[in-house]
Amino acid sequence: MTLDNIIEEIKNAKTIVILTHETPDGDAIGSCLAMKLALKQIGKNADVIIKEVPRIFDFLPQREYIKTSSDIQEYDLAISLDCADFKRMVGNEYFEKAKQTIVIDHHSSNKMYGNINFVNPVSPACCQILIGMFQYFNINIDKELGTCILTGIITDTGGFRYSGVNSDTFEFAAELLEKGVNVSNVYKRVLDTRTKANFELMRKIIDRMEFLEDGKVTFTYITGKDLEEVNAEIGDHEGLVEFSRDIEGVEVSVFIRQRDNEEDVYKVSMRSNDYVNVSDVCLMFGGGGHERAAGAIIQGNIEQVKQKIMKELKKVLK
Ligand code: 5GP
Ligand code: MN
Repeated sequence: MTLDNIIEEIKNAKTIVILTHETPDGDAIGSCLAMKLALKQIGKNADVIIKEVPRIFDFLPQREYIKTSSDIQEYDLAISLDCADFKRMVGNEYFEKAKQTIVIDHHSSNKMYGNINFVNPVSPACCQILIGMFQYFNINIDKELGTCILTGIITDTGGFRYSGVNSDTFEFAAELLEKGVNVSNVYKRVLDTRTKANFELMRKIIDRMEFLEDGKVTFTYITGKDLEEVNAEIGDHEGLVEFSRDIEGVEVSVFIRQRDNEEDVYKVSMRSNDYVNVSDVCLMFGGGGHERAAGAIIQGNIEQVKQKIMKELKKVLK
């Protein structure tokens, strides 16, 4: 049984590192900090390595213990959370050198790159997998741990709105509320707080929004220059792709963002409404994600990237 193997490996390890994907969101960071707190209860001290944490997550318990690198080169155990692909993992050099590796994730496109893989694509958030796992391990989900878990659930379900939400999600949320987790505060901080730079970027993407394929697709972009102009910080582009999915008649929303001022490299984000599996579309470009939310990295200038994406989308639009 994998869960028993997981706890056994944790108990056997003296040094443990917890890792997640680049441009980490609330589920990635919430999962890592929740795992750190859970391991602490078992008497294990673990390092969480995340290079860039968006400011909005500064309220999370244990935030101050997140490291950007470590002196330990060879950990006994590396745990990857919410990360479908080894290539996307920040600090994957620690994962590579670790004696034992565990992958816990909810992406259907997960590449199963660990020694032990615990992947449940039906779970709406990695944090929801963790809460079930921690209950099995008899870990006490207190207010701090619960706040990290709820942050992941709220971010990845868009505040309990997406179709992946199931009855467990609400039952867990109810339990967390009973433990004293401030649900409305977490909600406000992670979903209803917009930085000024994010708002300025929003103006730009709305201005540039194109409707393609009879209005079934929206396309918009942000360049490195835009990010500089608005003094964007880590994470300030988050959520921009969500906006145009809500427009009537739109099936797929496409948002591309120039990557770290590299001339012809764009990070693509896609969201869909009813039937387009954007994870499959992104897989064509070496990326992945979920059926209704996915991403990839594509080479080319804005026009070329747009054409590449549209060529694939045309095949799957009704
Ligand atoms: P976002 O558009 O918010 O960056 O990502 C949406 C979803 O797709 C997330 O679950 C994210 O982990 C996944 N995703 C985004 N970019 C990539 C990528 O380049 N490769 C893979 N495998 N997944 C991605
Ligand atoms: Mn997630």
